[in-house]
Amino acid sequence: MLSNTALDERRKAAVSGGASMSFPIYVDRAQNAELWDVEGRRYIDFVGGMGALAVGHSNPDVIAAIEAQLKRFSHTFFGTAPYESYVELAERLNKRCNVGGPAKTLLLTTGAEAVENAVKISRAYTKRRGIIVFGGAFHGRTLLTMAMTGKVSPYKQSFGPFPGSIYRAPYPDLYRGVSVEHCLSALETLFETEIEPSQVAAIVIEPLIGEGGYIPSPVEFMIGIRRLCYRHGIVLVADEVQCGMGRSGRLFAIEHTGVEPDLILTAKSLAAGIPLAAVVGKAAIMDSVGVGGLGGTYAGNPLACAAALAVLDVIERDNLLNRAQEVGDRLKAGLQAIQKKRNRSPIGDIRGLGAMIGVELVEDDETRKPARSLTAKVIEEAANRGLLLASAGRHFNVIRFLVPLTISDAVIEESLQIIEESINAAVNGDIGNAPLAQAG
Ligand code: PMP
Repeated sequence: MLSNTALDERRKAAVSGGASMSFPIYVDRAQNAELWDVEGRRYIDFVGGMGALAVGHSNPDVIAAIEAQLKRFSHTFFGTAPYESYVELAERLNKRCNVGGPAKTLLLTTGAEAVENAVKISRAYTKRRGIIVFGGAFHGRTLLTMAMTGKVSPYKQSFGPFPGSIYRAPYPDLYRGVSVEHCLSALETLFETEIEPSQVAAIVIEPLIGEGGYIPSPVEFMIGIRRLCYRHGIVLVADEVQCGMGRSGRLFAIEHTGVEPDLILTAKSLAAGIPLAAVVGKAAIMDSVGVGGLGGTYAGNPLACAAALAVLDVIERDNLLNRAQEVGDRLKAGLQAIQKKRNRSPIGDIRGLGAMIGVELVEDDETRKPARSLTAKVIEEAANRGLLLASAGRHFNVIRFLVPLTISDAVIEESLQIIEESINAAVNGDIGNAPLAQAG
């Protein structure tokens, strides 16, 4: 039988040390919100392919769609031998994305590529260079998107110099006293001290900041930015790579604010883990690039398009937007109960939209000092007990929930139990003594 330890030894010898590794658990198979390692242990998966599995692992409709496509053809390159599924997916995304008018779509392969292309399109449309992003944002790992990402360790260390003309403003964090007024006035300051608004091509914002700590953008902040963009002719780009595709309870998280962006970026859950990304935007902006200026060998690969069409069907048929809200309500209620039992800390804040919930852990309720090492211990303890979790936040002290929206209530309840036990064990220093996750 394969063992996790033996595979991990092989990984250390064969795989770049720069690739991250949270749990040395090697997957054998996965179904909906659960996976089994090569030693037969079962885990509940709250990381969900880092948010790529809104419809769950091995979704039968997605498998059937990919299988059917695979039998016909697996790849052609859309630019020379086009196919219907790319066009159909574009038509469906155009209908579902509120960008304040007729929309057009460009398909790509990764989230970072969607961000890069949004920058290219915004620059071509406005004929300007400046890009404004926010502190704590994550936009990808290519050199341009890393320059846009607002977190140094571990993403940016040792990789500079980065492309220029990227400017950063603060993102509101009401729990930590960073107000909407402060953030909007910081943008005005940026226009006075760094770059004239007439030189800014785009403002790129996550409507619910992901890596930065699961903080939904306050409605007034998004409205304020929309106004600035209208006033100065700046393209407003919503990076929905993590918060999109139903996780927030709406297909796109920005819909919660009522603001219509000019471009929407989606990836991750778009094709249930098959690499696919999209830039959907106002037709006039999307058409401002010369023919051949956009694309990529695998962009809009037919297997990925088939998967994405199935994902959209499943979201509609199974009413997953409502389900996202139910899942989130259940998680929130369970977490609030744990918080109450412990008389608050270490659970400082529970927040999010729909099923996109984050829990901020603090050392005490007064100082709100981020509990970074405790968070790592909770995550380690949970993995030992059979629940996979991921952290987020500038101080790595937020636990983020990226559960499949298709998860059952019973599995949610089981997970909440594990979270409570793991928090108690981490706080009491009772680390590494839990029985390992069970086979089965
Ligand atoms: N934008 C956001 C908001 C993301 O969360 C991510 C990935 N975590 C990306 C862009 C980059 O996506 P990818 O890893 O597919 O390049």
